[in-house]
Amino acid sequence: TGKREILKVQDLAVSYGHIEAVKGISLSLNEGEITALVGANGAGKSTALLAISGLVKAARGQVLFNGKDLIQLSPHRIVEGGVAQVAEGRATLTTLTIAENLALGAYTRKDKAEIAKDLAWVYSLFPVLKQRADGLAGNLSGGEQQMLAIGRALMTRPKVLLLDEPSMGLAPLIIQEIFRIVQEINKTGMTILLVEQNVRQALRIAQRGYVLETGKIVLEDTGANLLGNPKVVEAYLGG
Ligand code: ATP
Repeated sequence: TGKREILKVQDLAVSYGHIEAVKGISLSLNEGEITALVGANGAGKSTALLAISGLVKAARGQVLFNGKDLIQLSPHRIVEGGVAQVAEGRATLTTLTIAENLALGAYTRKDKAEIAKDLAWVYSLFPVLKQRADGLAGNLSGGEQQMLAIGRALMTRPKVLLLDEPSMGLAPLIIQEIFRIVQEINKTGMTILLVEQNVRQALRIAQRGYVLETGKIVLEDTGANLLGNPKVVEAYLGG
């Protein structure tokens, strides 16, 4: 079908002490697509993302990025390699300005002209960040902080963007806006792994999706098929 697999997770398992939060999952991302990883609170979605980005240690498994295993690399090497995560809860540096937060995303890069281009792109995606560039990140609303966290990850110029519940805690209109921007970022060719409890919205914009239940993948299909799957409808879309 001409689709190229850019990231492949194989038999990934993660434990916290005696609790196995992720129980040997396998999934793959096609280059240029949005892949959704959905499931209920506590299913293990965040843990899977943290393991892919090296922030928690996997008990077993592989994360192949363009065929190369990332699992032993440190988080900053994974980012430099082209896989950037936007953490749940956003984690912007609230005592720095918006411009300073964005600059931090690019701090290991040396290509000044390209950094300037990416900054212009981020500001075009999120005009509010440009308007308030010299303001403190701590004064932004929740939705704006989510935008800043996404913008900062984009400043690393990733090949794969991992988004952990970008809609969490936001008002419905802001959620619409965030999902629209995720699609816009994807249209530039960016590969995205979107972790969401907001199952309906995530599957609407995803080409493929995986459903995680208590640490295991129980369904995988196109986003459209999952939206119409009676099991998904019953368990996640309110019947
Ligand atoms: P949420 O949407 O709440 O983030 P999730 O699907 O992302 O849910 P995880 O946060 O990955 O799920 O949690 C999976 C399981 O691991 C849960 O049972 C959770 O209680 C447990 N867990 C998560 N983080 C830790 C931790 N640091 N120490 C111990 N147990 C943890």
